[in-house]
Amino acid sequence: MKWFVDQLSAWFATHGRDLPWRHDVTPYRVWVSEIMLQQTQVATVMPYFERWMTRFPTLESLAVADENDVFSLWQGLGYYRRARYLHQGAQYIIEHCHGDFPVELASLQKVPGIGAYTAGAIASMAFGQNVPAIDGNAERVLGRYFAIQGDLKKGTSRQTLEQCAHAIAAQGRAGIINQAIMDLGASLCGKKAQCETCPLTTHCQANLRQMTDVLPQKHTPTAKTPRICAALILKDTAGKVLVARQRPDQLLGGLWTFPTLELANDTVSKHNKELLLRSPRIALWHAWLKTHGLTAPLTSCTPSYVWIRHIFTHIDMLMTWDIAHYNTSISLEALTPDAALDQFDLVMQKSSTLDMQDHPSSTLMKKILAKL
Ligand code: SF4
Repeated sequence: MKWFVDQLSAWFATHGRDLPWRHDVTPYRVWVSEIMLQQTQVATVMPYFERWMTRFPTLESLAVADENDVFSLWQGLGYYRRARYLHQGAQYIIEHCHGDFPVELASLQKVPGIGAYTAGAIASMAFGQNVPAIDGNAERVLGRYFAIQGDLKKGTSRQTLEQCAHAIAAQGRAGIINQAIMDLGASLCGKKAQCETCPLTTHCQANLRQMTDVLPQKHTPTAKTPRICAALILKDTAGKVLVARQRPDQLLGGLWTFPTLELANDTVSKHNKELLLRSPRIALWHAWLKTHGLTAPLTSCTPSYVWIRHIFTHIDMLMTWDIAHYNTSISLEALTPDAALDQFDLVMQKSSTLDMQDHPSSTLMKKILAKL
């Protein structure tokens, strides 16, 4: 273990990446960077991180921010649940920890959105604790170095991986070593291992046994839930379009979308999809609008005949949309009661684009806008 730590720390001193969150290290900066880096490339995250730190330089400034501002800054990064967790996490720390970042792993994991990996990253990099932080890169590097067979996400393989990671962290300098493992996994020990230039090459079991192509073994991905939805494009003669804010407990909670109707949430055969496409949805939309306190008298709904596929973490979404026509002498403003103003708004359509500047919206919404 000591050899591993010595080799890797020497390599990191010359090959480690110069990243913005590795300067002026604070728990807040490590936390924000780690959340942004989940399922997102470093190069994509860097400008977002800089903008975030300019707009919300402290935990306090984030805690008091308006959710719309938080989502606006996040636009384009995807997986908006992460932005909500950061916002809620900052409020949690202010409220429950007197504004001081928790130090212990168990306390860190009580903060909304902080799991075992992020807690390990914050504890080791910001608080100097000798604990591991096991992300996908660490799984690959350690899984290969120790030639751990089986699914590294569960069972005895996971236990072995965690024991190895703890033994390495116990050697000291865990903050540095965790970053070095990440960098090695993002460079030489990527999908295709470049063992000839790796500092661990002489002791790495996968390399010595010529198993780098088969380790780590693929884990079975969790099946995604299929969902089929339709959106409603409801526009008045003044060019205003109705948008709806998703409730916090809904998919894309807090973001603005077109009114959306779930048509099916199970596997639908091609034949059934065709039927769904052809079925008139005007009655469904009337019911939807009524349920939400709106009374737009739709006269017809024209289906777009276009399907957009969008993959979320746990959902495989198929989305289509209907262009609604209604009695155009009535403005949409007149149809939107004050009580519904928090949930609905009207945005202007300028030529072919919608003015969504003040309405943070999802990538899926942008895909529909591009097709419109
Ligand atoms: S020797 Fe090869 S497989 Fe082993 S850690 Fe280095 S790059 Fe990865």
